Amino acid sequence: ISVRIRLSSSFKVRVLLTSSKTSSVNNNFNVEADIWRRIYGRLRPYWKIALFAVILVSIVSATKPILAVIMKPLLDEGFTGVKHYYVWLITLAVVLIMLVRGIAAYASSYLLALVANNMLRNLRSEMFERLLQLPDSKFKEGDTGRLLNRFTIDANTLTTVATDVITVLVREILTVIALIAVLLYMSWQLTLIVFIMLPLAYATARIISKRLRHLNRGALDMNAELTRVVGESIEGQRVVKMFNGYQREHDRFHYVNGRIRRFAMRSASASAALSPITQFFISIAVAAVISVALYQANSKGLTVGGFAAFMAALVQLFDPIRRLANMAGTIQKMLTAAESVFKLIDEQPEADTGTRVLKAPITGKIEFRQIRHRYPGQDQLTIDNVSFDISPGQTVALVGRSGSGKSTLANMLPRFVVPTEGEILVDDIPTHELTLNSLRQHLSFVSQDVVLFEGNIRDNVAYGAFEAVDDEQIWQALEAANLAQFVRSLPLGLETQVGEKAGNLSGGQRQRLAIARALIKNAPILILDEATSALDNESERQVQQSLERLMSNRSTLVIAHRLSTVQKADRIIVLDEGRIIESGTHTELIAQGGVYANLYEM
Ligand code: ATP
Ligand code: MG
Repeated sequence: ISVRIRLSSSFKVRVLLTSSKTSSVNNNFNVEADIWRRIYGRLRPYWKIALFAVILVSIVSATKPILAVIMKPLLDEGFTGVKHYYVWLITLAVVLIMLVRGIAAYASSYLLALVANNMLRNLRSEMFERLLQLPDSKFKEGDTGRLLNRFTIDANTLTTVATDVITVLVREILTVIALIAVLLYMSWQLTLIVFIMLPLAYATARIISKRLRHLNRGALDMNAELTRVVGESIEGQRVVKMFNGYQREHDRFHYVNGRIRRFAMRSASASAALSPITQFFISIAVAAVISVALYQANSKGLTVGGFAAFMAALVQLFDPIRRLANMAGTIQKMLTAAESVFKLIDEQPEADTGTRVLKAPITGKIEFRQIRHRYPGQDQLTIDNVSFDISPGQTVALVGRSGSGKSTLANMLPRFVVPTEGEILVDDIPTHELTLNSLRQHLSFVSQDVVLFEGNIRDNVAYGAFEAVDDEQIWQALEAANLAQFVRSLPLGLETQVGEKAGNLSGGQRQRLAIARALIKNAPILILDEATSALDNESERQVQQSLERLMSNRSTLVIAHRLSTVQKADRIIVLDEGRIIESGTHTELIAQGGVYANLYEM
């Protein structure tokens, strides 16, 4: 009975027990069945190895009861001296069996690890591919901790447990079947008693494992929270220090840390209770068996050897059954991890529905046509009916108060943000008809927060290039970005490593490195969003020069708080609450004496 239930694995059991209830249970079943299918679908490329491993596992299980079976001839015929050659035959048999078993056990573990690690690699690649394709807006939701956890903890749990599940299910179930066969052969009456007791133990185990599932999910969430809190404290250490945030960070950490402890303890207590409870029921079964055995022995139905073999098989049965009972907890752990992993894989990639391609060279003509935009969940329009165009090679500057929608508008050009209404045309083609790759290929973006990648200066500049570039081109870009002199002064030159956060470069140097990266891309359209606002006057002047070089002959959309940087623009557009309130050249706007003139005065 126990075997059949375990074979069908925990989720089916739940449905068998509850299928008469509501339809939500059925949905739940479908979801879980789907997860199972997806997990093991990933096994398909390796099914041959997995199958071979399973065969080896079966050998391991099949050899297990032989040791119990040997008991009968050993005691009834060996120790009684009936068959002398048992002295060497049985010892040899034991050694040989253990040898075969050992080899099979090693090989199966190795092969299953191979399958698990291949699956893990593929799964992580799949997750990472999806991560790269996520739309810009997904990254604003700010659960990086959870996202990172999916790569490390969840993916690992999923694959190691997935192969464990196969091994344990196959090995333990076969072992149980083999051992039960031995039991039945030795005495069916005793077996019957055992079978009445075991389901009782099983039922108890199930109640506990159900509780475990709930706790595991909580613990996973809390771990992500811990990663987030610690991550924020590391990244924001200066903020914490400056604003005396110690208490706040301390409290947050304390709370999460305490919750994790509580979850872990409750989970530990449930886990720990599982074995003793199961074993207690087993001991009752054993007691019953012994009394029946003694009764049978007195009525000559059972030999000493038979009883010893029965007991040996029964004792061996405990472990596999306990492991099977523990499986429910393990499987739940796998399912929760899988849910989390598949959630990332199932994320919608950035919509890339365009089919047209912008062929180089393009003129760089840009037109914003009656753009309206509303961020999801907000009732006010961020951008309200904005239209303007940028002629090839022209520079248009966006100015306006903080929050007036400048960045939102700029982010629409590379389609990081998709307008709710209206369209943007590049070279007279609506951008939504273009493939994202073809569109972005012609755009360069320099923003306030510069992201540099792990690697040296050369790698970081070359990142912008579409094809391979030589050092001469890199130096040209650095020269144009006003950074060449600095790089030359470095002992390692282009080989200088810049870290993840490029802590060894100043803000202005990082900015100029980003400009060099944008320069080497040599795109005809340029977007500058506050590219210089983090800089002091001196470095701004240097960056300004490099920017002007970058802007010449390119259609440029520039956003700047410092009006000195936008004065030279061909046109200045003043935004307020998502609407254009003024537009013209610097001189025109000053003459007009409106908002811009006021800002400039200040
Ligand atoms: P700043 O000069 O401070 O950079 P900005 O003009 O660039 O300001 P935007 O970043 O375009 O302003 O933001 C315009 C408005 O849209 C703001 O009120 C902001 O709160 C809101 N907003 C920006 N990004 C989002 C988002 N992802 N979800 C919801 N609202 C957003
Ligand atoms: Mg902005």
